[in-house]
Amino acid sequence: MTATLIDGKAFAATVRGKVATHVARLKEAQGITPGLAVVLVGDDPASEVYVRSKGKQTVEVGMNSYEHKLPAETSEEDLLALIERLNADKDVHGILVQLPLPAHLDEALVINAINPAKDVDGFHISNVGLLGTGQKAMVPCTPLGCLMMLRDHHGSLSGLNAVVIGRSNIVGKPMAQLLLGDSCTVTVAHSRTKDLPEVVKRADIVVAAVGRAHFVQGDWIKPGASVIDVGINRIPAPEKGSHEDGSVKTRLVGDVDFEAAKDVAGAITPVPGGVGPMTIACLLANTLTACCRVHGLAEPE
Ligand code: NDP
Repeated sequence: MTATLIDGKAFAATVRGKVATHVARLKEAQGITPGLAVVLVGDDPASEVYVRSKGKQTVEVGMNSYEHKLPAETSEEDLLALIERLNADKDVHGILVQLPLPAHLDEALVINAINPAKDVDGFHISNVGLLGTGQKAMVPCTPLGCLMMLRDHHGSLSGLNAVVIGRSNIVGKPMAQLLLGDSCTVTVAHSRTKDLPEVVKRADIVVAAVGRAHFVQGDWIKPGASVIDVGINRIPAPEKGSHEDGSVKTRLVGDVDFEAAKDVAGAITPVPGGVGPMTIACLLANTLTACCRVHGLAEPE
């Protein structure tokens, strides 16, 4: 292995520590406790795991966590009414609606019903617009975590060639905006991109957000490049044996062929233990930021 391993787990612990210190100061000096409301509709097992983890970490940094678990058949009207209540609740500084929502609910309508100042996921159209025009926004957590790791590794990103693979609203597009904001020369690749290996080979920074296991090959990477692997893919792991019901156990892998890429890249994030932990840490940081902004207090760095 020649690449530096970017340890997202350790970095996330540092971010959470800073948030906890700031929260303790807020409580002591102002009597304010930041609060995060998480809304989960339905019983998707992966979403339930995320929501539990978010709630636990919110409490660990000293904030209040409000969980709203609604049945899968919840009507749009009822969900919008809950969001209205949370928008008006002074103890709630951040609102997160866990995606994906059941098919009968209009995701864009629901997200855009959240007060943009409480939109800690940064998906509200106002925050998208603010980020795109370089103004103060709530920034989506996953790309924000990626940017923090890149800044930490490189110092300045100015002038670097960055390729973002994936153009989703939650990862690819905001990632591209953030890198542009740090003066990278940004290429956004997607399923119609021609000769992707050649495009990736030009990049000093590669952010992979595709959702396909081991998609980015080692020989696509420019020697010394920084590789940020956003992908979370579950693949069969027969080497781990079987469950009681006979089904093969699984393991998590990223979008990058880590084993090959680590010998070419200058720095790389592992999966698990890279982008994932940073995402929740950034959610907590965003909630603290939202709380400070609404009270007109100095924001965390
Ligand atoms: P989406 O499915 O919304 O987007 C995937 C993107 O990959 C699309 O833009 C698609 O292109 C592109 N793509 C698909 N196939 C190819 C291909 N052959 N060549 C080039 N591009 C391709 O996924 P998300 O952005 O939501 O998530 C991406 C990954 O990141 C997933 O594995 C997800 O689980 C993970 N993730 C991880 C998070 C974390 O906290 N670590 C948080 C959020 C996501 P097109 O637009 O043309 O279809």
